Amino acid sequence: MANEPMSIVRNGRVLDIHGHRAPPADILIAGDTIAEVGAAGLAAPDDAVLIDASERLIHPGLINAHTHGHGNLSKGMGDRWTLELLLTAAPWISGNRAAEDKYLSTYIGALEMLLKGCTACYDLTVEFPQPTSEGLGACAKAYADAGLRAVVAPMVANLSFYEAIPGLIDILPAGLQKDVERLKLAPYEASIAAMRQVLSDWHFDREFVRPAVAPTIPHHCSDEFMLACAKLAREFGVGLHTHVQESKAQVIVGLKKYGKTPTAHLQDLGLIGPDFVAAHGVWLDADDIQRLADHGASVAHNPGSNMLLGNGIAAVRTMLDRKLNVGIGTDGASCCDNQNMYESLRVAAYGANAKGPDTDRWLRSEEILAAATVGSARALGFADKLGRIAKGYKADLVFLDLAHLNWIPCNDPTNQLVHTEDGSAVNSVMVGGKMRVANRRLIGVDLSALGKRAEATRERLAALNAGNKALFERLQGLVNGFCPGLAKTPYHIDHFAGAHHAH
Ligand SMILES: [Zn+2]
Repeated sequence: MANEPMSIVRNGRVLDIHGHRAPPADILIAGDTIAEVGAAGLAAPDDAVLIDASERLIHPGLINAHTHGHGNLSKGMGDRWTLELLLTAAPWISGNRAAEDKYLSTYIGALEMLLKGCTACYDLTVEFPQPTSEGLGACAKAYADAGLRAVVAPMVANLSFYEAIPGLIDILPAGLQKDVERLKLAPYEASIAAMRQVLSDWHFDREFVRPAVAPTIPHHCSDEFMLACAKLAREFGVGLHTHVQESKAQVIVGLKKYGKTPTAHLQDLGLIGPDFVAAHGVWLDADDIQRLADHGASVAHNPGSNMLLGNGIAAVRTMLDRKLNVGIGTDGASCCDNQNMYESLRVAAYGANAKGPDTDRWLRSEEILAAATVGSARALGFADKLGRIAKGYKADLVFLDLAHLNWIPCNDPTNQLVHTEDGSAVNSVMVGGKMRVANRRLIGVDLSALGKRAEATRERLAALNAGNKALFERLQGLVNGFCPGLAKTPYHIDHFAGAHHAH
């Protein structure tokens, strides 16, 4: 401890989320951790590096509870896509990636998050037909190089989208049935063995980049596979993350396949625990929410993606009322199209409000900010280390410019962070005591060179995936006729009564 480099942040105003205020305070940092927070003039060793935070509002780094690093090379490729069309497009928009492409895609997203006030994320990254140590290593290295804290989980399945949705394959013409055959995934034993290798070989500092396990969507995985994923995650003490009841089609498939909601099924399998994150949860009924709450699990709420893909608006008020931990995420840039957590904060508020004028059901800005900091931290498995500016927590800090128009004037910092800030007032970002953004620029990053590299990669991948794009174009009409049809199955959720009714 004594040899750790010290720094002292002076003259800034530190956000008190629940107090809706930002009183002046100094922050003493030892190595990567906050050693003390105190009134202006806090004692510090003579050799502590002074960080002048005059005209700065300091808030805990936002934590992105759900993203997909592979999506950053695919931003803007689709429009008017449902989740099911996005899954149909996956071989086109994220296929044929080499390890360096995986690195590049992840790195671009990491930089965007940093520049927009986010200091940690939970990344579910895909490799086809199964995860590899090389691919996962490339993603982890991208975060380590960018300086963004991350949990990196290989997103795995043993059933293709066409195998996972009952009846879908049957509506495809014989030629297309054959074409989607080649999208078959590896047998689950192979993916488990590959993940075991990844978890055993992990050589990154787990305080900075740690692994997890992510069976992608329950009905895309056999029960044996889901159970093996949970066993593996628990053997290695890492997180377990899956997309749960994201679209209405998914809950209808779950009811058909399991005779109960996917959440009820996951509970019966023993998957739900404090290490479990349910992404989205738009179609959770109140019983499902209670199940997740009872087991100390978390929901990653991705309001932008949920609206963009037409999945709806998650019942976050009910989740919070039931004491279910909620984190906030952007989701991947292929279904939210940027990695701006400030937007997620605001859209989380708008979504709740858009349901109707009953303000008791709306979210308070302090609840939204708490979700995007301590809530997400718990979802990442970093509870008590991230999400607060307090002694013993990691020094992951965002310095907003109070001379930016977003903050002129500063009436209520909590409300303004949710309803006004858009990322443009971010002046500096510190992760683990190290500045990664200063004066609105990423330190040590040549964006022009990165842009050239990304453009060359984009062209190369477009050529490699031309066949996959053509396949998507032949499939999209059929999938888009079938899946919204599934979603028209009457299914009503009443979050006040806690019952669901399928007819
Ligand atoms: Zn996702």
